Amino acid sequence: MADEDLTLKGIGHLLYTDLLPLNRDGTDISMKFLEAVVKKTCLPFVASDFDRTQKVVDFHQPDEMLNLVDMHIPDDPRDLDSLLYDCHQALHYQVKTGHPHYLNQLSCGLDLVSLAGEWVTASANTNMFTYEIAPVFILLENVVLRKMREVIGYKGGDSILCPGGTVSNINAVLCARYKHFPECKTKGVHGLPCQPVLFTSEHSHYSIKTAASAAGLGTDNVVEVKTDAKGKMIPEELEKQIVACLNYEGPVKKKPFFVNCTCGTTVLGAFDPVEPIANICAKYGLWLHIDAAWGGGLLLSEKYRAERFLGVERADSVTWNPHKLMGCLLQCSTVHLKEDGILMNCNQMNAEYLFQDDKQYYDCRFDTGDKVIQCGRHNDIFKLWLMWRAKGMSGFRRHIDGLMATAEYMTEQLKADTSGRFVLLWPEPECVNICFWSVLFCFGVLFVSLYFLF
Ligand SMILES: *Cc1c(COP(=O)(O)O)cnc(C)c1O
Repeated sequence: MADEDLTLKGIGHLLYTDLLPLNRDGTDISMKFLEAVVKKTCLPFVASDFDRTQKVVDFHQPDEMLNLVDMHIPDDPRDLDSLLYDCHQALHYQVKTGHPHYLNQLSCGLDLVSLAGEWVTASANTNMFTYEIAPVFILLENVVLRKMREVIGYKGGDSILCPGGTVSNINAVLCARYKHFPECKTKGVHGLPCQPVLFTSEHSHYSIKTAASAAGLGTDNVVEVKTDAKGKMIPEELEKQIVACLNYEGPVKKKPFFVNCTCGTTVLGAFDPVEPIANICAKYGLWLHIDAAWGGGLLLSEKYRAERFLGVERADSVTWNPHKLMGCLLQCSTVHLKEDGILMNCNQMNAEYLFQDDKQYYDCRFDTGDKVIQCGRHNDIFKLWLMWRAKGMSGFRRHIDGLMATAEYMTEQLKADTSGRFVLLWPEPECVNICFWSVLFCFGVLFVSLYFLF
């Protein structure tokens, strides 16, 4: 079954019972096993990830794949050789998302320092709810998130790492709901005398609707505001919609409370104008959230921060995914709140078995578990911190400016193309999304396909 070079010389026939901790003398065997998994499967995969002569994917339909890879759960233990082969098979059919020819949604490339961080994280295998069990990692969260808030322009505030931008946006909506309708936490939305309404552009990410649904507010109460030709929210349209809501005459009054401003829309990469939207939010007393899951990386470049994010520090909350433009390994998403304490007040349940604030021997302020709608949290910080250490602020600025320069080059190439095969959707992309039509004439039939390039 296993290839010759995919065997563990001398120990391949052994079982999990021969490894630590079941075999107390199993250190040597255990290390050999792990070393083989890394050397024979992970490292060759990583190397091939960057190899332009290799295919991006060895694609098979699901029914074929079920035959190609032995996936069944066996009745009896399998030996170490067979586990090594399982690892090899999994990576063999995996899409090479770090490959230069891999062009897919919103995350690509493989940052090697971040990968090293992920390996370290996996070895530590710790939960992130208390300082007690993850002292260094918890403090790293503190340091990195504070730095990110500084970049946003917040003084103080609070942040949390979430399993993806969608959950970050859900957290923002929950905090806004808590701020405007605190009784919701205990009474639920049925206790409200009015219907809370959210506003977001028609080009925004669908997770705003997810958040409205998850928060019990309902997707029907998300108003989609019109965008201009570039895909940016039209502030006048936003105000019109808010006023229409306020004037609504029905059995249950509508109460606008939340505006989502997208900085870097998922498809066109458009930036909603922050300042005019912030002015409207201030005028009507609404929570301003900035969904910069995609575009947030541009905050690291002074040039693009000034051009795209003017007024960002006025927002009540900001979602920013380091696993997108910054190239951090999946998953790594952050949400930042301007008001310190709101995350905790919104989500705290005081589970006594976990969060005993009478622990005498350390400062419980660093415990994060009760701030979130999760209980346990994965360690998503170390890989981000490590790559930030490697690059420094200047390295990240170069990284971001480099991405934008590549996008500009691509745009110029498309503009310079005289074959008529490519039609740019928008000549001045604001992010690294370059949308163009590829027009193919073939047997008199016109095929048009839309490409998104990141
Ligand atoms: C990708 C994206 C999200 C969702 O982030 P996930 O990490 O995929 O959950 C939200 N908003 C915008 C604008 C995005 O581009």
